[in-house]
Amino acid sequence: MPIFEYACQDCGKQFETLVRSDTVPACPACHSVSLEKKLSVFATSNAGAEAAPMPAMGPCGSCGHPDGPGACGIH
Ligand SMILES: [Zn+2]
Repeated sequence: MPIFEYACQDCGKQFETLVRSDTVPACPACHSVSLEKKLSVFATSNAGAEAAPMPAMGPCGSCGHPDGPGACGIH
C-alpha cells in the first residue's frame, strides 16, 4: 500500500496518506482536494521508477536497430 506525501495548495499543510485507487485524498485541515503530490516514501530511493523501462538494446526501442527508430523499416 503506497504512502504518498502531499502539500495542500490552499492552506499549505503537508501530510502523508495512504492512497487507494478508488479514493481521492483531501487535506485533513481544510478538506481541499487541491493537493501537490510529493514523493512517496518508497520512491525516494528508487528515482525514475515511474518512467517507462528502456530496453537494454539499441536506439530503436522496438527492435534495437543501431541506426535508430524507423531505420529498421518496421518500427
Ligand atoms: Zn488544506
